[in-house]
Amino acid sequence: MQLDAKIPDGPLAEKWDRHRFEMKLVNPANKRKFDIIVVGTGLAGGSASATLAELGYNVKTFCFQDSPRRAHSIAAQGGINAAKNYPNDGDSIWRLFYDTVKGGDFRAREANVHRLAQVSNNIIDHCVAQGIPFAREYGGLLANRSFGGAQVSRTFYARGQTGQQLLLGAYSSLARQIAAGKVTMFPRREMLDVVIVDGQARGIVVRNLISGELETHAAHAVVLATGGYGNVFFLSTNAMGCNVTAAYRAYKKGAFFANPCFTQIHPTCIPVHGTYQSKLTLMSESLRNDGRVWVPKKAGDTRRPADIPEDERDYFLERKYPSFGNLVPRDVASRNAKEQCDLGKGVGETRLAVYLDFADAIRRDGRAVIEKKYGNLFQMYAKITADNPYETPMMIYPAVHYTMGGLWVDYNLMSTVPGLFVLGEANFSDHGANRLGASALMQGLADGYFVIPYTIGGYLAGTPQRAVTTADPAFKAATQAVNGRISKLLSINGHRTVDDFHRELGGIMWDYCGMARTNAGLEVARGLIQNLRAEFWENVKVPGDPGEFNQSLERAGRVADFLEFGELMLIDARARQESCGGHFNEAFQTQENEALRDDENFCHVAAWEFTGEDKEPAFHKEPLVFENVHLTQRSYK
Ligand SMILES: Cc1cc2nc3c(=O)[nH]c(=O)nc-3n(C[C@H](O)[C@H](O)[C@H](O)COP(=O)(O)OP(=O)(O)OC[C@H]3O[C@@H](n4cnc5c(N)ncnc54)[C@H](O)[C@@H]3O)c2cc1C
Repeated sequence: MQLDAKIPDGPLAEKWDRHRFEMKLVNPANKRKFDIIVVGTGLAGGSASATLAELGYNVKTFCFQDSPRRAHSIAAQGGINAAKNYPNDGDSIWRLFYDTVKGGDFRAREANVHRLAQVSNNIIDHCVAQGIPFAREYGGLLANRSFGGAQVSRTFYARGQTGQQLLLGAYSSLARQIAAGKVTMFPRREMLDVVIVDGQARGIVVRNLISGELETHAAHAVVLATGGYGNVFFLSTNAMGCNVTAAYRAYKKGAFFANPCFTQIHPTCIPVHGTYQSKLTLMSESLRNDGRVWVPKKAGDTRRPADIPEDERDYFLERKYPSFGNLVPRDVASRNAKEQCDLGKGVGETRLAVYLDFADAIRRDGRAVIEKKYGNLFQMYAKITADNPYETPMMIYPAVHYTMGGLWVDYNLMSTVPGLFVLGEANFSDHGANRLGASALMQGLADGYFVIPYTIGGYLAGTPQRAVTTADPAFKAATQAVNGRISKLLSINGHRTVDDFHRELGGIMWDYCGMARTNAGLEVARGLIQNLRAEFWENVKVPGDPGEFNQSLERAGRVADFLEFGELMLIDARARQESCGGHFNEAFQTQENEALRDDENFCHVAAWEFTGEDKEPAFHKEPLVFENVHLTQRSYK
C-alpha cells in the first residue's frame, strides 16, 4: 500500500487555507443526518465532540472514566504554546513552526506542523472566550513563560493546572451539547474494537465497565482520541488508566501504527523510590524557567547540597548549552541527567537523581514571586518527598511521559482505515521524534477545535456510504471476537497478577527501549517479551466474572495489548538505525554524545501494518520532504 499523506499543494503558509476552501462541505441541514462516534474526552476528544455537535452532527462520545472531566489531560501542568508574541520577543508562526520541526529532530511533516503553528493563536482566543483563567500580566495581557527548545516566551498557563482549566473549558462546551441533545455521553465504557463495514470504520464495540455488558454502536465515522501509550513502561507520569488498547485494536483492524518507538522521557520527575511504586510524578518543565540543574563536580559526593560550595557544583546544562541553558529540549536534558548519574555524580539515596535548585531565583525575585508562579508544584513536591523545595533543592530524574508515536494519519487526520480519524496524543502527526514542552495541549486542541471539524466534513461529503446499523454481521463478528478474548482471560486462572506481568514488562521496556538503546539489547528484549507474553496467557490470574464491575479484567485486557505492542516498539526501534530525538541508539551519536541522525536513509515516518497474529508486521515508509526547513544537526549550544 502506498501511503498518501494528502498534503495539499501550494506554498506552506497557504496550504491549510487553500485546503479548507477546496474541501467539500456538508450543508448545514444535512449535518444532522450524520452520526459520529468520538472515543475519548480529553482535550482532543472533548473539544472535537463539542465542536462537531455545535456544527450539527449527532455525536456519541465515550470514555472509560466516570466523567469526561477525568480524562488524563486534566493532569497537564505547565502550559500551552501559541505564537501570539505578546512579550514582543520575536515570536511568529514561522518561529513556532521552525522550533517544533527542529525540536522533533526533523522527523515530522512540515505541512502539519505549520498548520499547528497557524491555529495555535485561534486556540488561545477560543479558550479566553470560554473563560479559561490564564495567568495575566499587571496590565491585563495574558502572561507567558518559557519552555524547552525555544528562546522566546510563548507558553500560556494557568498556574500549574493548565490542563485542568483547558479541560474544564472543553467539558463546559461538551456539557452544553449534551444538554442540547446533540451529544450522547457514554462514560464508563471501554472501546474494545472498531467495526469495519465495506472497508470503512462504521462503529465500535464497547464494554460497559459497570455491568460488564458488551454494546455496539454504529456511525458514519469514528474518531479516536484515546491518548498515549506511555504506560507500556508501567512506571510513567501518565494516569494509571492510560493504555494502548483502542489504538492497538484499531491497528489490528488495518490502521497503521507510526513510529511506535518514539517515546518521550521527561527530565524533571520525582525519582523512583521503591519497587512497589505504580506511578511517577512530573515536576513541570516550567520549573526550569527558574530552577537550575546541577550535580556535585566530584563523583560519589554524599554531602548535603547546602554543604557543597558553589565552585564544587556542576551546572551541567548551563555549561554545555550556554544558549538554551536549563531550557534545552527534554530529550537533551534527560540524556544529560542520565550521563551525570552514569558518571557516578547522581544524588540522593539511589544516586539516580540530579538537583533542581531555586535558591538563586528566590534570592533574586523573593519567595512570594516563586510561590505565585509554582506554589502548587512546590506543595506537591513537599507532600510526596517531605522535603521543602523553598529551602533545599528538589531532586529530579527522567521518567516516561509522552508518546510521539501513534496511529498513522494523513493531513486530514484520517488513518489508513477510511472513516477512522485519530486525534491528540493517539496519533503520530506533529512532534516528530521529540515533542517540545507545552505542545501537546496545543496539538490536542488544534485537532479537536480546528482541524477535524473541517476534514471530517470533507470525508462525509465526498464518500458514498450505505446505511449501516448494529444488526450488520460485522458487529456480531466483532462482538464475538471480544467475548472470546474476555472468556479466555478469565479461564486461565493462573498464579501471577496482571500488575506483576505489567511491572515486568515495564522493566524490560525501560532497560532496553528507554533512554538509551542498543541493537543487541533490543534483540534481547524481544525474546524476553515473547516469553513473558507466553507466560501471561498460561499463568495470569484474573478473578471475577465478565458480567460485573471487574477492574482486574479491564487491566488484563490492557496489559495483554501492551505485551504485544511492546514488541512492535522494539521492532520499530531496531529498524531505525539512527538516533533522533527520544530514540537514542548508542551506536549512532556525535562525538559530544548527541543524537546522530541519518537523513539519507531514515528521513521518513515508519508505519507498521498488522499482518496476523505472531507474524512480523509489514513496514511502510512515508518519506519526509523538507522544502522550507534546512536539515541540520540540532544544536542548543
Ligand atoms: C503529568 C503530565 C503533565 C503534562 N503537562 C503538559 C503541559 O503542561 N503541556 C502540554 O502541552 N502537555 C502536557 N502533557 C501532555 C498532555 O497532557 C497530553 O498529551 C494530552 O493531554 C493528551 O490529550 P488527549 O486528549 O490526546 O488524551 P487524554 O487526555 O489522555 O484522553 C484520553 C481519553 O480517551 C479515553 N479512552 C482511552 N482509551 C479508551 C478506550 N479503550 N475506550 C474508551 N475510552 C478510552 C479516556 O477515557 C480519555 O477520555 C502532560 C502529560 C502528563 C502526563
